[in-house]
Amino acid sequence: TKNSGRNGFSVYHTSMSPIGRSQVQLKNELWRAIHNNELRLYYQPKLNVTSGEIVGYEALVRWQHPERGLKSPEKFLPIAERTGMIIPLGEWVLNEACRQLAFWHQQGAEHLTISVNLSAQQFEQKNLVYIVTRTLGQYRISPEKLILEITETTAMRYPQESIKILKELKAIGVQVAIDDFGTGYSSLLYLQNMPATELKIDRAFINSIGHKETDPRLLSMIIELAKNMNLNIVAEGVESEEQQRHLVGLGCNIHQGYYFSRPVPPSEIIIAATKYQAR
Ligand code: C2E
Ligand code: CA
Ligand code: CA
Repeated sequence: TKNSGRNGFSVYHTSMSPIGRSQVQLKNELWRAIHNNELRLYYQPKLNVTSGEIVGYEALVRWQHPERGLKSPEKFLPIAERTGMIIPLGEWVLNEACRQLAFWHQQGAEHLTISVNLSAQQFEQKNLVYIVTRTLGQYRISPEKLILEITETTAMRYPQESIKILKELKAIGVQVAIDDFGTGYSSLLYLQNMPATELKIDRAFINSIGHKETDPRLLSMIIELAKNMNLNIVAEGVESEEQQRHLVGLGCNIHQGYYFSRPVPPSEIIIAATKYQAR
């Protein structure tokens, strides 16, 4: 730990805190991870429960650490964000997700969309639109098949700027989802001006289904709000049949959650041609 003194002196401790040391170490390790191909994407389906069709997948990053095994994003994304490594990491994710989608499209599942999470830093990065356009071009993907997810908190951090960025993304034809909706503090006035295409209800609301102490009107209000704003609505973290039925009753039928499938590696996803046979 370093401490800049008033007179141009810096104070160091002979032993850096374990937190400080491991942060530097982790930054270097993350750099290595990106360049040695240690990152993996897992994919979780978004299911239309009415038609039974998978409409798309959300890409979720993992780190296959050579010694410490498969690490979940909560373990390394905060450090990636603090050290700026989130920028190259995020570019890797976007590229890999688009590469995978192009493969699935080539296999015949041309309807599939891919959802990619953007961190606040990536969203606010000057050349975001350029990178997205370039990646879509590289894999010849129609822009509307890419859904960029930003959290409600990211969107509302600098709402005026967000609206500008979202307009630019809309102009190139990609979709935008507001993620973890309901956990932040949205001004409806701003939300109304955000040209997003999808709203993902945070799993806390889905979790509350069936619990007496929570007000069920909140969930139906969010669904009504999304409908009025012409947004596609996705329920996250659907874990039970009860939750699924309840959501369908409220008019929300695109679900993502363990009840249907956990995130899986792409090797577990099989694109099969469907034949419609007369019976
Ligand atoms: P998120 O974007 O809200 O993603 C959904 C998370 O909920 C995933 O956790 C997923 O595995 C988990 N989940 C899905 N269904 C269920 C369910 O039914 N029950 C429960 N309890 N959990 C469920 P995961 O993969 O560990 O990712 C955690 C967070 O890390 C993500 O939350 C997202 O904020 C972030 N993240 C993941 N991949 C990326 C990435 O490539 N870039 C960025 N910037 N962030 C990412
Ligand atoms: Ca997400
Ligand atoms: Ca979410």
